Amino acid sequence: MLMDVRRRPSRPANMPGLKTEDAPPLPSTKASDALPHPMYFTSTVFFTLFFSVVYYLLGRWREKIRTSTPLHLITPAETAAIAALVASFIHLVSFFGIDFVQSLILRPAIDSWSDEEEEDSLVRKEDSRGLPCGQTLDCPPVPVYPLAAKPKIADIPAEPVSPGEKDENIISSVVAGTIPSYSLESKLGDCKRAAAIRRESLQRVTGKSLQGLPLEGFDYESILGQCCEMPIGYVQIPVGIAGPLLLNGREFSVPMATTEGCLVASTNRGCKAILVSGGATSVLLRDGMTRAPVVRFGSAKRAAELKMFLESPKSFDELAAVFNRSSRFARLQSIKCAIAGRNLYMRFTCSTGDAMGMNMVSKGVQNVLDFLQTDFPDMDIIGISGNFCSDKKPAAVNWIEGRGKSVVCEAVIKSDVVKNVLKTSVEALVELNMLKNLTGSAMAGALGGFNAHASNIVSAIYIATGQDPAQNVESSHCITMMEAVNGGQDLHVSVTMPSIEVGTVGGGTQLASQSACLNLLGVKGASKDSPGSNSAQLASIVAGSVLAGELSLMSALAAGQLVKSLQQIEQGCLQGCCLMNKKEEERIVCHPLKGTSSQVGTR
Ligand code: ADP
Repeated sequence: MLMDVRRRPSRPANMPGLKTEDAPPLPSTKASDALPHPMYFTSTVFFTLFFSVVYYLLGRWREKIRTSTPLHLITPAETAAIAALVASFIHLVSFFGIDFVQSLILRPAIDSWSDEEEEDSLVRKEDSRGLPCGQTLDCPPVPVYPLAAKPKIADIPAEPVSPGEKDENIISSVVAGTIPSYSLESKLGDCKRAAAIRRESLQRVTGKSLQGLPLEGFDYESILGQCCEMPIGYVQIPVGIAGPLLLNGREFSVPMATTEGCLVASTNRGCKAILVSGGATSVLLRDGMTRAPVVRFGSAKRAAELKMFLESPKSFDELAAVFNRSSRFARLQSIKCAIAGRNLYMRFTCSTGDAMGMNMVSKGVQNVLDFLQTDFPDMDIIGISGNFCSDKKPAAVNWIEGRGKSVVCEAVIKSDVVKNVLKTSVEALVELNMLKNLTGSAMAGALGGFNAHASNIVSAIYIATGQDPAQNVESSHCITMMEAVNGGQDLHVSVTMPSIEVGTVGGGTQLASQSACLNLLGVKGASKDSPGSNSAQLASIVAGSVLAGELSLMSALAAGQLVKSLQQIEQGCLQGCCLMNKKEEERIVCHPLKGTSSQVGTR
């Protein structure tokens, strides 16, 4: 209580419209400062009265001694004077006494502020917390309104009704471990508040600040049960735009979320080369998501019996009917089996409409396993995923059989475009592709890595459009081919990508930012006219963008080689890419010493 009496009146923590640091220094205050003007007038009267009466009574006292009059004989005038003396004395004591007592007790406490500066700032910081939890660390400063533009009360952002006493209790419980952090959303029914409380608890437990990781500006309800558990904020990734990418006669502006300098610029240059050469063409070769459970039998013979049954054309219709119950979009295409001893791996492939399809195919597989159990009761289901699928791991099965969308994309780049836009020659590109992407990758024992940097483009588009970035592993499988055509004049370039795993519904595609990027490409959500065409289009765009990225980086490398062979590499320009474009409007990767050119030039 004493704290309150001592601190609050002298240092208002939150003067509306004024930052605490901006508050003018407070004059030393006295209790008497608070007195209204009539009181000063009264005090003056009593002050004068007191001394006048003292003077009068002293005079009367001296007179009585001189005339030997007994002191106890008091005249009415003397009685009135004594009464006035007592009254003015009481008034003066109460008037100056408060100030005296305050100066004795309170002023040293006020002076002690300077000794308690640290505590002061803590208290002020605490007082300035408009919100109860972690977000306060990221709170914008209290707005400073110029006097002339002082806002109306209605314009001032409302302070939260309670400064979070309730939240403070919850934070303490989460920190103490009596409320599990994961249960906050269900307990509070407010995802944003749950994230803020979790964040603040985490900061207190770890002692680490999360300043810089934003909390505000995100719809936490949209990720509940779908995209991310136990959120405490979100990471910002810039989105750049490459294009137009002219693909199958349509132009696309391709959003790429990346923090790698030069990547978007490089892809953009590739898009330009494709555009001025008349565009690229893509073909969807295959479209099917896979899931491969592993089951075990008592013997290899029994495992082989099930393999025969599953791969028999006679069984297919029945199995497909069972499988397809999982979704109106799931359509079983094939079952391929592999045996390891008495263990059987069954690779189910199905179309999944516009969804990437992992959930859909898993549900279908579960239906079939339940169905098989009747005829094969000795079948022991070890796992619904036995890695023969194969999801998010480098695997030859995806490279050879495909997974998701298999796409080939090609373009013929005219000789003058190779020379003027890409700043290299057809011959140099063909040679480099053969020695780097084909022979070099073979030497390295590559698995689907016969390209320069497909994963760069795949990852950036995946993040921008809400795909599963972990599927970048197999989605980046790509063989880049370059050949001289039209009598050696022009360049035929292609990328073949057997396992692009994308969807335009489900997962992260529904989130606001990712959905906006899909919308930009014209493939947002489910296609109403032809289910599956949006995700197929997205896969084509991924392949087309990879084609652009391959063209540009390979050209940068080839140009570097050319320039090197001509001994024109400037000192310090280690990768040569800074030399490839002399014209200002075509400079794309030109800071060798900052490492940006090396990022493009060394893959
Ligand atoms: P995934 O299988 O890629 O994990 P989800 O199961 O999360 O995807 O999302 C697919 C959901 O979207 C399913 O419930 C499906 O019924 C629904 N859906 C609506 N329209 C389509 C469509 N055109 N293609 C695929 N799924 C669709």
